Amino acid sequence: MPELPDVEIFKRLAERHGAGRIVARVSVRDPAMVRGVAAEELPRRLEGRRISACRRHGKVLFLEIEGDGALALHFGMNGALRYVARGEGEPGYVRVTLGLGEGDALAYLNPRRIGEVRLVESAARFIEDGGLGPDALDPALDRAAFDAALGDGRQAIKTVLMDQARIAGIGNIYSDEILFQAKLHPALDARALDKRARARLHAAMRQVLETAIACGAGAENFTENLPKDFLIPERHAGGHCPRCGAALRVYKQGGRTGYYCPRCQKEP
Ligand SMILES: [Zn+2]
Repeated sequence: MPELPDVEIFKRLAERHGAGRIVARVSVRDPAMVRGVAAEELPRRLEGRRISACRRHGKVLFLEIEGDGALALHFGMNGALRYVARGEGEPGYVRVTLGLGEGDALAYLNPRRIGEVRLVESAARFIEDGGLGPDALDPALDRAAFDAALGDGRQAIKTVLMDQARIAGIGNIYSDEILFQAKLHPALDARALDKRARARLHAAMRQVLETAIACGAGAENFTENLPKDFLIPERHAGGHCPRCGAALRVYKQGGRTGYYCPRCQKEP
């Protein structure tokens, strides 16, 4: 599931190939994934306009359209953004393409069709209306702001980290990694975290997300590129702690399966 690092990679791709260019042709293959405007209207609204900037907030990628709002892309369970060079075959499951006028295109694909391509008034408005918290890598999310976002409630810290209204960008996979790196059990509640634990968690959040981006989150050889002490490659049945070798345990909550090390991440 695309989380902040994956979407950051899509953003960089869109920036490299799309920013500053004119959308020449819009092709909607799956009208049901278009929101905020009738699907048949989307080409008229975008064609001939320039992609002025690309922005990311949490797990949402915005392609800002000169003079007419922004396209907000949600990737759901397994969506992606791909650049299709001239003459290159199109990937599977393409739902919307933005042709860039030289035979190349940005393609939004989404096998499971969870997610959306939404035309919005502005990124800022969308973030506000959606009640999204600060982006997890926003420099303004310093120690104090992070403490405030966590609060001191009774909810499990894993759930708190994944709550997009508190902090935007972290999902099931990266909350596991962040908690593992901070040596905190996923079921601890925010109340139980002292100053040192919170500082560790804040530092781990930054370090994990930045490392994942630097390692090319979502790429085919991504897990091989990760540092040897990362949990992500071991997040499967029969996985072991990369630090102490203990068998990982499963942590189930709200239909999601998380993983943790019972030795490195002590029970609350
Ligand atoms: Zn361990």
